[in-house]
Amino acid sequence: MSEGHPSGLASGAGDSLWQACVDQLAQELPEQQFNTWIKPLVAQVADDFSKVTIFVANRFKLDWVRAQYTSRIAGLLEKLYGQPVQLELALAPREPVVRTYASPAVQEPGLAAEPGEMAEDASPAVFKNRLNTALTFDNLVEGTANRMARAAAMHVAGTPGQLYNPLFIYGGVGLGKTHLVHAVGNKLLADRPGAKVLYIHAEQFVSDVVKAYQRKTFDEFKERYHSLDLLLIDDVQFFANKDRTQEEFFNAFEALLAKKSHIVMTSDTYPKGLTDIHERLVSRFDSGLTVAIEPPELEMRVAILINKARAEGTEMPEEVAFFVAKNVRSNVRELEGALRKILAYSRFNQKEISILLAREALRDLLQIQNRQISVENIQKTVADYYKIKVADMYSKKRPASIARPRQIAMYLAKELTQKSLPEIGELFGGRDHTTVLHAVRKISGERQQLTELNQQLHVLEQTLKG
Ligand code: ADP
Ligand code: MG
Repeated sequence: MSEGHPSGLASGAGDSLWQACVDQLAQELPEQQFNTWIKPLVAQVADDFSKVTIFVANRFKLDWVRAQYTSRIAGLLEKLYGQPVQLELALAPREPVVRTYASPAVQEPGLAAEPGEMAEDASPAVFKNRLNTALTFDNLVEGTANRMARAAAMHVAGTPGQLYNPLFIYGGVGLGKTHLVHAVGNKLLADRPGAKVLYIHAEQFVSDVVKAYQRKTFDEFKERYHSLDLLLIDDVQFFANKDRTQEEFFNAFEALLAKKSHIVMTSDTYPKGLTDIHERLVSRFDSGLTVAIEPPELEMRVAILINKARAEGTEMPEEVAFFVAKNVRSNVRELEGALRKILAYSRFNQKEISILLAREALRDLLQIQNRQISVENIQKTVADYYKIKVADMYSKKRPASIARPRQIAMYLAKELTQKSLPEIGELFGGRDHTTVLHAVRKISGERQQLTELNQQLHVLEQTLKG
């Protein structure tokens, strides 16, 4: 993060306000999204906190950040600071050039090389495969939740271009999709060091397409993508509504399959669940093998904790791992967070890892989980927020101004309480469980697409969790 915050740009307190905002976004956004769009931002906070200016590397990024993230950033700053903060976006001045590329004009930090630099000798590292060598099959714990996906991925890494092409892996956040695709790339390269492998996040692909378009370098773009042996493309749900990108991806896809190169994709949903992606692409996605990764079961969570602790040079007693695994259930990323806290706490206090220590280290986390959130509380909070009557939560009224908050409340009830669908239906005026299920699916689907809804839900969740 250091290069994103040159000292002197922001005053101390302003710096920490911005840092707090960035930290929060790091938790809320998918890692790739965060790394691509938020991490490179540099902010300047006015002395009196009245204004925050965010510097963005180039025009394209500026438009993107403005469209996708400003309302969210403004909302966070306001929450953190306690008052609205004016947010401004500006192009970064040339002076503090972030990287030392020769052509700073439209250079995007972290992106692939300029066309002119593609020649091997210009810089041997230029054809970057963007693989993270730390993410391998060796350190990907196997369990019922990921067995199928892992086996298929292994198979592809061993004999690419044959079965299961494309391999489409889907599942919720933090379940190991990104890890798995990197593992495929790393294994293939270990077996065949000369193979042309590329890992790319879908958002980065979008940005590559836009650049090729702006610079009229589609030939290089095509050459680069169409020459691969293995394309690993992460989070393809981000192709939604990006027509030009979808077209280019379709072309690359066809070209790669024709020459028996392998394509591995991930997404937060199965192909037919994707929205705003052309039908012909969706059907291609589904034409190989589609596998899900589920949230890890208890034993798998225990194994992951013990493995990760060991990788950090620490033995975690099984009973402690069970304690943590029972309390942290959502996904592997959260497990890792809990483990980091425990390790830091143990090192800092020079105490052995025990259940007691884990309980102390995770106090905040456990408290949040223990605080019971009731459906009644959710109904009241949501009704207040959308300015409707609590009674409308149980009423049979159907106008959207009421039905939607009601669906949001159902969604939150499912998310934040242990109640079953029929129980929730009962508490919403005796509705059928399928009505609740429909609401849950609808809101969670829309949440992925609509920044504003996502932000509202976030506020509601924060309010409810206290
Ligand atoms: P996703 O892409 O599905 O959101 P990631 O691949 O980023 O999830 O995984 C989140 C974190 O959890 C990463 O640090 C990853 O290494 C780790 N992780 C996920 N699944 C496993 C697993 N089965 N074994 C070990 N680590 C895992
Ligand atoms: Mg991922």
